[in-house]
Amino acid sequence: MSAPELLRKLAILSDAAKYDASCASSGAPKRNSVGGKGVGSTEGMGICHAYAPDGRCISLLKILLTNFCIYDCAYCVNRISSNTPRARFSVQEVIDLTLGFYKRNYIEGLFLSSGIIRSADYTMEAMVRVAKGLRLDHDFRGYIHLKLIPEASPELVAQAGLFADRVSINVELPRDDSLHRLAPEKDAGQIKRAMGAVRLGIEERAEDRKGRGKVKPAAFAAAGQSTQVIVGADAASDDEILGKSETLYGGYNLKRVYYSAFSPMHDAAKSLPLARPPLMREHRLYQADWLLRFYGFGRAEITQGLPGGMLDLAVDPKLGWALAHRGRFPVDVNRADREALLRVPGLGVSSVNKLLALRRQKRVRLEDVRRLCKAIGKVRPFIVTEDWSPGALTDSADLKQALTPAARAEPRQLSLF
Ligand code: SF4
Repeated sequence: MSAPELLRKLAILSDAAKYDASCASSGAPKRNSVGGKGVGSTEGMGICHAYAPDGRCISLLKILLTNFCIYDCAYCVNRISSNTPRARFSVQEVIDLTLGFYKRNYIEGLFLSSGIIRSADYTMEAMVRVAKGLRLDHDFRGYIHLKLIPEASPELVAQAGLFADRVSINVELPRDDSLHRLAPEKDAGQIKRAMGAVRLGIEERAEDRKGRGKVKPAAFAAAGQSTQVIVGADAASDDEILGKSETLYGGYNLKRVYYSAFSPMHDAAKSLPLARPPLMREHRLYQADWLLRFYGFGRAEITQGLPGGMLDLAVDPKLGWALAHRGRFPVDVNRADREALLRVPGLGVSSVNKLLALRRQKRVRLEDVRRLCKAIGKVRPFIVTEDWSPGALTDSADLKQALTPAARAEPRQLSLF
């Protein structure tokens, strides 16, 4: 294969992969080549990061095995009816690229997805061969994330889980009827069954590994499973999207749900919107998702009373909730329990932990809070300290306006290219 041809394929297949946001490597097991054995590491310094044109940070070689696809998902640039340029890597080419990039310190691992060629099993088998080749033939110890094809056979999914740190299956759209309409070959039930099987595989293997024997069976997708929801391709509200996430976290023990703002494309299906949703919407969904996972909020609490079930783009969801529930404030930082402190706008999990530790030693003053959080202006109206009480500020009519960054023109993501 000539270098220009390889570069052409890389340009096409890395560009085609940029629409998948579910590639973060958080939670990967610590694996390294200290001791002179193997290649790569899931930790380590000096790893370069790549950025997709829309600004997402990618520290992985993030590519498709191929962007040929026999499916016709209306929202996807790689669908069979699209006239996008096509390319396909061989299994060996992906292995060689991963090792070459890793050794040059460009990446810390591989994120591999693919269009579906011939059949789900044919494609999944090729992807598994990449991961297996890297692990067994090259003792590669970097991070591997494989996108699973829900219709692939359970045996192939089981093998993918053996060689990958993380696996993911995209639910794609928040509503099952939208999936049926926009991705006719996909089956929401099959996606759920596949995610359930992955959860079972992870839990069974974790149980087996608890045994006392010295030789533990290999972990199954040790960094867990994740998924991606496309935002703005159908009419689902933020409330519906977060409801879907709540179900996914509870039902399939997902590590992350990623939200990807729909990108309108060339010759798109008429059923799709012409404009992409504001990037701020994606950002607010991530913030709300954080509240679900780490701050003890339920979805209904976050979205209750919001017009059309849509998050307020002007303020973050926690501030929005606090403004709508001012009767719960101010919170006395010297007496309140952890749950109440976590609901104070501007106080994160780490600041709350530090506050709780500090108040075992002394009465907390406003200056202490200022040191522990990033935005004291946002916190002050909602707390009482040894030397501060917000008085009427908590209930003031213009509090939202005072805490909202000055109205600006619609923010636009800068292009890095
Ligand atoms: S299966 Fe659908 S979403 Fe996946 S590459 Fe093919 S057309 Fe795109």
